[in-house]
Amino acid sequence: MGKKLIVLSFVMALIISLLIVGLNLYNTKNANVKASFASAESISKVVINSLNSFNTNKNMDYSEDFITSLSHIKGLNDLWLVKSESLNNNHINNQKQVKDELDKKVLSSGKIEYKLIENFSKTTMRISLPYYVNIKSGNTCISCNNISDDYKLAAISLDLDLIETQSVLSNLIYLIPLLVFLTILTIIYLSSNIIKAYYMLFNTFNTSIKEASTGNFDLITKPKNLNKEMNVVVDKYNDFMFVLKDAFIDIDKRLQGFIGNKSGTNIINPLEESKEIVLNLSNLYQFKKEIELDNSKDEIYDRLSQVFINQFEIESFSFVEIDTRKHKMSIVKEVGKTLYCQKYIQENPELCRCSRTKNDVVSIDYHSSCPYFKEKDNYHYCTNVDISKDVNLIINFVCKTTNALEKLKEKISFVKSYINEAAPSIEVKLLMDALQESAFRDGLTGLYNRKFLDEHSKKLIPYAKRADINIGVLLLDMDHFKAVNDEYGHDIGDKVLKELARIMTESIRESDLVIRYGGEEFIILLVGVNSEKDALNVANKIGKKVRENEIDVYAGNKLKKTISIGLSMFPADTTSLDSAIKNADIALYEAKNSGRDKVVRFNEEQISSVDLF
Ligand code: GH3
Ligand code: MG
Ligand code: MG
Repeated sequence: MGKKLIVLSFVMALIISLLIVGLNLYNTKNANVKASFASAESISKVVINSLNSFNTNKNMDYSEDFITSLSHIKGLNDLWLVKSESLNNNHINNQKQVKDELDKKVLSSGKIEYKLIENFSKTTMRISLPYYVNIKSGNTCISCNNISDDYKLAAISLDLDLIETQSVLSNLIYLIPLLVFLTILTIIYLSSNIIKAYYMLFNTFNTSIKEASTGNFDLITKPKNLNKEMNVVVDKYNDFMFVLKDAFIDIDKRLQGFIGNKSGTNIINPLEESKEIVLNLSNLYQFKKEIELDNSKDEIYDRLSQVFINQFEIESFSFVEIDTRKHKMSIVKEVGKTLYCQKYIQENPELCRCSRTKNDVVSIDYHSSCPYFKEKDNYHYCTNVDISKDVNLIINFVCKTTNALEKLKEKISFVKSYINEAAPSIEVKLLMDALQESAFRDGLTGLYNRKFLDEHSKKLIPYAKRADINIGVLLLDMDHFKAVNDEYGHDIGDKVLKELARIMTESIRESDLVIRYGGEEFIILLVGVNSEKDALNVANKIGKKVRENEIDVYAGNKLKKTISIGLSMFPADTTSLDSAIKNADIALYEAKNSGRDKVVRFNEEQISSVDLF
């Protein structure tokens, strides 16, 4: 840039000098033309006056010699008189015919005509001046008073060297551009140091502003040779940078407070970072509004998954709920490959390091930080969030490369902000689920209640019809249960009921349902049981277990009880669940009637033998 400035100044100096030379030449030439003009007019007047004098003295014969003698005048190359066609030869005998175009023009226009003839060595002026000749008297005039018909137009033609008006002063004029040029060059040279200082300062500002746009607000060190005003500008600039840096770091810190501190230590550009945080906060706010409208826990997990996949480009992760009170681990959602935790930990969730320590467990720091992570070729990042007093949510992120894990670590604070935002909503949904569940559960035994049966049967029966499966319906009633209450009290009665609930639950498959139907009456629905025989086997197995089960009563005393069971089959016996239960009840009645502690299969004949009263 400095060099450019010098070249520009040089070119400008040159142009100014050339302009001055040009103007000077133009003026000189103009002055020369005017001087030659005046000289031509003077010579013409002398000629005309002399002609008049020759005419008056009647010695016109001398006129030609006179005109010839004029050729000695310095600068006058030629002079001749031109007659118009209307003029008689007699009047002025030394007049000649028109010589050139200029002569012709003057004779037709009556005005002075001139032409500059320039060649390389000199410039000459061809000038023709009009005058009038009185044909009667022979007198001539240039500026005649009254021109009558007696006056005829003629011309004096001259060929003059252009008068050179050069003087010492005009010679000096040629020196002016040279002086101007030299002066400008001297000014450039003398001011180059100052220009250089400004130029260096400009460069320093340029670099500093570039750095500031990348988040580096370092103050600038003053370049050498600064003058007073430059010093003031640099000081003000540095003050401004200081305030800016302070403000951005403060904004960055405050914004990070919203989402938790970044795990990565490489804070590079507070400007970019603040922008990123504000964008994330806005997305987070949107996310929060969305999950508030979600219906179920699953919807919230789906939404979180979408954020992980779309916003953070995480490919593989699982949501795992650990109920510390129930020692239960539930994999609620998996994206990508299936859970990488060993099966063992699923059965012993208290061993999960992340849930236990409530700290993030990351494989990159110490590859076997979690001994239960089975895919050693992959890397994990597990994070824990407490959903409620008993339930922890573990999110198990799995990365294929260390690079991917590093990237995840960089954005984990943003990821966690979403998880933390979702946690209270998940807790609400968990509580609602629990509440709904408790409405369908019996408080004493923990089994489903009659309300559940009513609700569930609405879905179960159409499903059974569609899937063409059997349902074995068992109606169970404790034999002489009232006597337990009477003899040992209600607490022991309750204990007996709980024992029965345990035996029934342990004797069935996971797809089967046990329902407390009434006080000491229970229904078991054997969903998808193969045959009546299988159903009878289950019923007999339960009967046997109850019969053999000893219940501690008090002071080492044991109590043994029996149950009676009525069995009916759906759809073999009937097309509705209600009728199937009624049929089972009839069979149960039969079992009671025929001595208790037995299983009775319903048949149509039993209906007529039921003695209701
Ligand atoms: P059976 O062999 O004919 O069935 O005689 P049972 O005594 O079992 O029959 P009954 O219907 O006469 O008695 C049922 C008793 O169960 C009456 C009631 O007090 C008792 N009971 C019902 N619900 C509960 C409960 O939740 N806890 C306790 N301890 N007893 C209950
Ligand atoms: Mg009963
Ligand atoms: Mg009973």
